[in-house]
Amino acid sequence: MRAALAGLPVSPIHYFETIGSTNDYAQSLAEQAAPDSALVVADEQTRGRGRLSRKWVTFPNAGLAFSLVLRPSPGEMNALGLFAPLWGLAVCRALREWLHLNAEIKWPNDVLVNRRKICGILVEAHWLGSNLQYVIAGIGVNVAPSSVPASGDLVFPATCVENELGRPIEREELLAAILTAFFAERARLGSAAFFETWMRWLAFKDEWVRVEGASGSHHGRVVGISPDGSLRLRAENGAEIEVAVGDVSLRAE
Ligand code: ADP
Repeated sequence: MRAALAGLPVSPIHYFETIGSTNDYAQSLAEQAAPDSALVVADEQTRGRGRLSRKWVTFPNAGLAFSLVLRPSPGEMNALGLFAPLWGLAVCRALREWLHLNAEIKWPNDVLVNRRKICGILVEAHWLGSNLQYVIAGIGVNVAPSSVPASGDLVFPATCVENELGRPIEREELLAAILTAFFAERARLGSAAFFETWMRWLAFKDEWVRVEGASGSHHGRVVGISPDGSLRLRAENGAEIEVAVGDVSLRAE
């Protein structure tokens, strides 16, 4: 893995056969002043987390689970809410350009292939009062068929890279491809090109969806993304709705 990552600006690299959660470990590193782009990789997570108190399952020898410590620059501070979609774009780019899979982003940040979830992303900003301390980004990708949890344990159908591709891949090469794409996308965070790419790879475009969240339930046709990363829907009565990122889950209708 270290050989595959040589040349990428990730340092230090911490690798674990098994760990509770890579995000929790990256957080403890950040508390001890770990620099931007410190990387934690694990073969297995026993307490992997998703958004809110949901779980992300990482079985041994099967997937990719890693977290990166991020210390946003002053310019990036204005676009903190775009870090999660930034990782979605990076994973999509790696799957599309390296493996030619038709990867899409289910707003706000899950990655789908053939309308099934292949990657989960959890970005956590840590604040002290009104001062941002650091951001932890955690990414889980299903690679081998054994990485996919039983369907009864899932709220959204899942798949894995090797099933979609029809052949095995090296996980460390996928990790290198995702990190390469991440640093390229990070350089254009919030730019017109960033939003154009996000729009191009947006799942369920022009389709009817339902978005459930803290602000209630919204039903509409997917129109696009607004500059702050909200989802734009067209309701049945023609009105445009903007749904802010938060505790939301999107389903096709
Ligand atoms: P969402 O943003 O869709 O709510 P998260 O990215 O927070 O989901 O991930 C948590 C959810 O993902 C869990 O509730 C579970 O249904 C699903 N999940 C957990 N592990 C996996 C996995 N390895 N592959 C696909 N889906 C998973």
